[in-house]
Amino acid sequence: MTISFSLPYWADLHAHFRQGPALGDFLRAHAEMGCYAVLAMPNTKPPVAKILKSDGGDNWSIEGYLDDIKQASGDVFDDVIVPLYLTKETTPAMIEAGAKSGLLRAAKYYPPHGTTNADFGQPLLSYLDNDVFKAMAESGVTLCVHGEEHGIHGPDYFDRDTNAEDIFYRERLPRVVDTLPDLNIIAEHITTKTACDFVIQAGDQIGATVTPQHLLYTVSDLLQGLKYHLYCLPLVKFARDRDALRNAVTDPDNVKFFAGTDSAPHFDKVTECGCAAGCFTGRIAPQLYAQGFEEAGCDLSSQSNQEIFKKFLCETGPAFYGLKSSDKTFSLTKTPQKVDALPTADKDVLPLPLGLGQSEIPWSISV
Ligand SMILES: [Zn+2]
Repeated sequence: MTISFSLPYWADLHAHFRQGPALGDFLRAHAEMGCYAVLAMPNTKPPVAKILKSDGGDNWSIEGYLDDIKQASGDVFDDVIVPLYLTKETTPAMIEAGAKSGLLRAAKYYPPHGTTNADFGQPLLSYLDNDVFKAMAESGVTLCVHGEEHGIHGPDYFDRDTNAEDIFYRERLPRVVDTLPDLNIIAEHITTKTACDFVIQAGDQIGATVTPQHLLYTVSDLLQGLKYHLYCLPLVKFARDRDALRNAVTDPDNVKFFAGTDSAPHFDKVTECGCAAGCFTGRIAPQLYAQGFEEAGCDLSSQSNQEIFKKFLCETGPAFYGLKSSDKTFSLTKTPQKVDALPTADKDVLPLPLGLGQSEIPWSISV
């Protein structure tokens, strides 16, 4: 019998929608896969690094980007969170005022020059020194972290025994947690056993997002044939790391790991001298997560496993961010679905499976 089950609408708590004419296309691609809430990342150009439109300077504001998203999406989402991009201009007073206004619910740490449009970030511990993190802890603003140590070059950036994420979760983030045990932190798009272990042993105030690609693939998949559509940051890692992620998300007692696709559309993924980081999984993320669960040995024909999947996709993340749940439902069915490029007002965008040469995925969705 064909496996099919129903789920409540889910929240993608880490996604990139960019800006410009295709913004609405990217937002609709999320609505089409049963998202009722999204967390829209602030690494636009310029970055979303102030609260109100009327605040000074050239950066974009949370208020303005929320307006753009509402308008471009036709207001389809029940809730949209836009985190503040932490820069050298962020102050504790901004955090307090932003939290009071209701617009500031999360703030994003990017390692300086760590990934696409991440040129404004400052070293993590500078926000401890200037009391920005303290203000966030006191105002209940969640810290979203891109957890990679900045400025690492040479073999330590990616090696069998260490890498930028490993160093970050071993040496850097524990100092923030020790200093501010009440600060809510989301370890975003984690890729290593080190990060998994860190989140598991930490208190209830710390959760983590996991992307479809990090559940499905290892660095071998990236390297064999140099499949650059799988190039994202942090990089896919080794089998033992993927196993740790798989164990974490399929654990029946999981209350810390949840969906955040890090879906990131690029019109020009590859250039003469490099590659833009990010995998586009709009319209197909629940299907890819289901595939990942099954490849992790979690048979989704069983009702108890469907419950574990539901917790990961639809419940744990919204609970972390205090979102109301949705009463709409969609269903996943284990019949193959054809994957198409997303047409946009700009160029077409290739979703990850097509970039890997797969024109079909094992699960289909009906919303
Ligand atoms: Zn991201």
